[in-house]
Amino acid sequence: MNQLILHLGSNQGLRHHQLLRARQLLRTRIGPEIRCSSCYETSAWGLEDQAPFLNIALLLDSPLSALEVLGVCQAIENEMGRQRSVHWGPRNIDIDIIAYNDAVIQTPRLTLPHPHLQNRRFVLVPLAEMLPNWQHPVLHKTASELLEECPDEGAVVRV
Ligand code: AMP
Repeated sequence: MNQLILHLGSNQGLRHHQLLRARQLLRTRIGPEIRCSSCYETSAWGLEDQAPFLNIALLLDSPLSALEVLGVCQAIENEMGRQRSVHWGPRNIDIDIIAYNDAVIQTPRLTLPHPHLQNRRFVLVPLAEMLPNWQHPVLHKTASELLEECPDEGAVVRV
């Protein structure tokens, strides 16, 4: 079995409902959910003039490869009606792969660990709550250490 960390976000429609629906689909198609962080309301990053997101982190076990996991995540995003019209724009569901075992991958389709995780409080806060001792396989720092050092000042509030 492989262990993978996902980060989910929603800032359109019934945000809680969308996160629950995505979790349900992920459990069915990827594998059992081992842990889930609390839910956090976070200010939008990149394109800031938009509604706040709800974000959660998940830890799952899976027999699938990293690319298969990416395919499933994108299929779920599409099925849930995600529009990709604006880069960093509003989305009813966004699913990112934060890490897959200790894999270090850099391809046009998939970068692991997620290339921006260390710069984003909205990723690090749920991750550090769920797995404080998770070790970044390239930066060799734990999730808690990355959060302590993160310069991002975006609001991340537990709801
Ligand atoms: P986004 O629109 O932010 O969800 O970005 C999706 C694009 O990023 C897709 O084309 C993916 O192939 C690519 N991608 C690269 N690395 C990752 C990752 N670790 N998790 C999710 N998508 C990724």
